[in-house]
Amino acid sequence: MFNEQLSHDIMKKEDICSMTASELEAFAETLGEESYRGGQIFQWLHKRGAIRFSDMTNLPADFRQKLAEAAEIRFLTPIKRIAAKDSEKLLFKTADGFFAESVRINRGYGAAVCVSSQSGCKMGCRFCASAKSGLSANLTAGEIAAQVYAFERVSTVIVMGMGEPFDNYGATTRFLDVINDKRGMGLGARHVTVSTCGLTDKIIEFAENRSQTNLAVSLHAPNDGVRRMIMPVAARYPMNRLLDACKRYSIMTGRRVTYEYVLIKDLNDGNEHARELALKLRGSLCHVNILKLNDAGNDYKPSDKNVEKRFVSVLERYGVPVTIRKSAGADINAACGQLRAAKL
Ligand code: SF4
Repeated sequence: MFNEQLSHDIMKKEDICSMTASELEAFAETLGEESYRGGQIFQWLHKRGAIRFSDMTNLPADFRQKLAEAAEIRFLTPIKRIAAKDSEKLLFKTADGFFAESVRINRGYGAAVCVSSQSGCKMGCRFCASAKSGLSANLTAGEIAAQVYAFERVSTVIVMGMGEPFDNYGATTRFLDVINDKRGMGLGARHVTVSTCGLTDKIIEFAENRSQTNLAVSLHAPNDGVRRMIMPVAARYPMNRLLDACKRYSIMTGRRVTYEYVLIKDLNDGNEHARELALKLRGSLCHVNILKLNDAGNDYKPSDKNVEKRFVSVLERYGVPVTIRKSAGADINAACGQLRAAKL
């Protein structure tokens, strides 16, 4: 058993798609080549869509051979596609057999793509389809990036699909390095948003290291009592600590925080909830996105339209910037985890 494990570890190939350009430069050197070859590999993988080492025609043949022995190109296989007028959803299978799902939503000037950072999720939010079967696997940086590359004309990326990105922090930040790099996709950090359900400790680390990347926080409640009813993470991170961390993020980065708030009928949609939320957020650099509850096969119901309008008007009265998010993907089950749940 020990020998089997040992030989498996020895044989394990490097996941080359998850390496940053500078890691690839160092990797090329370990294989006896000059470092600039690493930059060439990075371009092939992240700009030119190579799926085999033999595609990398500007690399010497013997180096391609060495690469194939030492590393592997792990890609995602699309297994289901649902398209509607302005949106498209893909379900992928990873090389290890786990699911990932992503959604493209057309915007006039390009497309916003929402990607998964994990297959499933262990955060257990009660209104969410991804939470239902728990966490199956962390996705690698390469697997997160491959979801972006599956779509065309991508102008914005949101890490808000299945999973909690800060629970897979290393792969998520590595993914950000990869798609920011000009030798690859070159997507500016300001066009990327990472969304957390409130892993407060990571927010400050994120602000320190990713000052140009946008932060969204799934809040969904004006106080701990309501939040704990729908989000188990609230028991670990009380709301005052969470909001303090968000305010510090804004001070450190100069960027506003987007708070996501899904309105659930008779649970978090009252006037008193709107007022309490407004009092906690007013004066801070923030924006509230009001979301419509997606059907995740539970007892929660979306709030009525007039309740939604009333909720928004209370926030506006207190000077809190707020937008009702059009649910552009509702017709394709765009809520994270729905396709995977169906497959499982
Ligand atoms: S809402 Fe996000 S953090 Fe919560 S269970 Fe779903 S995927 Fe996980």
